[in-house]
Amino acid sequence: MNQPLSERLEAVRSGVADATRAAGRSDSPTLIVVTKFHPNRLIEDLAALGVRDVGENRHQEAQLKAEELASLDLRWHFLGQIQTKKARQVARYADVLHAVDRIKLVESLDTIERDIECFLQVNLTEDPARGGVAPSELEALVERTLESPRLTLRGVMAVAPLDEDPRAAFSRLRGYSERVRALAPEATAISAGMTHDYAEAIAEGATHLRIGTAITGNRPVTG
Ligand SMILES: *Cc1c(COP(=O)(O)O)cnc(C)c1O
Repeated sequence: MNQPLSERLEAVRSGVADATRAAGRSDSPTLIVVTKFHPNRLIEDLAALGVRDVGENRHQEAQLKAEELASLDLRWHFLGQIQTKKARQVARYADVLHAVDRIKLVESLDTIERDIECFLQVNLTEDPARGGVAPSELEALVERTLESPRLTLRGVMAVAPLDEDPRAAFSRLRGYSERVRALAPEATAISAGMTHDYAEAIAEGATHLRIGTAITGNRPVTG
């Protein structure tokens, strides 16, 4: 925990490179550093270390940080559940939405004033409360997203269930990615992999990793 931020970041970057090589891949996944609950100071330090992609999951906190750190030229990834009535506000500062999971939410984004990217979150559990579209409803959501004037569909996103081998869960996600690509050939991205399961996610084709505590240290207990 007292290891400097730069060393933790380097350790994760080399862990990602190792896992990517082990998977026989020649691309390099995008590392999104998840900074939720941490102060602006940490994000400034990350930016100074070359980080460009940061992830947040609570609207008010993310909005404030994006405003206050506007001069840093970061890409803001919004990872959390999005309330339909807040969606237009989130879309003002978020460059990428990772948890688009229902048609109503896509509809609410039809009239935003800038172009943003999105991932469709797929629920890998049987529990609807965990967020994400049910796999049986995936195609309908893809089709509606492709009609959106403002959203560019990048691919699928998921969080591994707590009670399952993450590799097996991410393997299912890869199958959902194939279904999405059958309708949207450009939507090749897979947002998966956190501190404890990024190697498994990389092995199953993740292109966007969302890694927090391994880099930032434990989150302050403010919420
Ligand atoms: C917090 C969070 C992460 C990062 O989790 P760590 O275990 O700290 O790496 C990734 N994805 C989402 C959706 C999150 O909310």
